[in-house]
Amino acid sequence: MVHFKKNIIFVLTIVLLAISGCSNDHSDSNNQQENPTTNPALEENENTEKETLEEVKELIVPDQELEKKSEGRDVELLQKALIRIGYPITVNGIYDEATTWAITDFQLQHDELPALGVFNKETKSVLEKYIENEESIQAGKALPPVDEPVFTNEGKHILGNPYDQLAIINKENTLPSDYEPDDLVVPDVRFPFTEDLPKKKMRKVAADALEKLFAAADKDGIKLYAQSGYRSYETQETLFANYVQRDGEEAANKYSARPGESEHQSGLTMDVTSEAVNYELTVEFGETKEGKWLQEHAADYGFIIRYPKGKEEITKYQYEPWHIRYVGKKAAKAIMENNITLEEYFSQEQ
Ligand SMILES: [Zn+2]
Repeated sequence: MVHFKKNIIFVLTIVLLAISGCSNDHSDSNNQQENPTTNPALEENENTEKETLEEVKELIVPDQELEKKSEGRDVELLQKALIRIGYPITVNGIYDEATTWAITDFQLQHDELPALGVFNKETKSVLEKYIENEESIQAGKALPPVDEPVFTNEGKHILGNPYDQLAIINKENTLPSDYEPDDLVVPDVRFPFTEDLPKKKMRKVAADALEKLFAAADKDGIKLYAQSGYRSYETQETLFANYVQRDGEEAANKYSARPGESEHQSGLTMDVTSEAVNYELTVEFGETKEGKWLQEHAADYGFIIRYPKGKEEITKYQYEPWHIRYVGKKAAKAIMENNITLEEYFSQEQ
């Protein structure tokens, strides 16, 4: 409503200016000198209104769902809106790390918004209220910006935004040791055990998607089992130490992750298995009808097979047909249809 009023005022001003401009054309030089203060005042008024209109135009919050790797006019609009409420980012039309940071920080400051770093309808409606009410935010209050990359003692990059739904977590990019998602829930799916263990959990967005995935499998007569989801930094530390003791460090590093390097800590991952492989996490799962169904349908629910066959050089992991990672439908489809990895998705041109 406010915007409409501003538009009307602007249109009226233009009409008035046009009328006064016309009368000026017909008036003589004396007449113009008689009103030396009127014209500059009107011009000033005109400029102010123009700027206001320009601002209003620029501050339309886009409708489109946007995420890392999105580009174009909608991303520009979003960036302008974020700048307007106080985020010190650049308008470049690319949904980059800085934009992801701003969106994540904004989401973290609103309990009703899951912090995922993607621009969705829920985030749009809250952001719109800020713009309408001309409110601003304390940028970085929930997620401090990272100006310089931070590294572990071993030289691994520590992710500045562990909440990011599209974060690349691997042997070079690690989660902070103190990162624990605050929206972990137990998905309502089939497990091969009954104990109430933390590894049943996933972040809400991934748990919801997993429920849909399992329900669709059931419909097709495919019985999937969820074996292992969330794992804390400390649990991973113990697990890796045990594997090293059993198989040696080099071997352990091929099938397991050092603490911080495991996607399981993100809460966006679940290891899936079936009765045919005795609920184990084994390469043979990929050959079962359950494994094949998972390969074919995971992307429809926003999941990818994170460590595909033949991509060991890129992922640094052996083929794991059981390990699915939630990235959202858009990225999942692009990754699975093109038979690429999350790493390649972000290193390739659109
Ligand atoms: Zn796994």
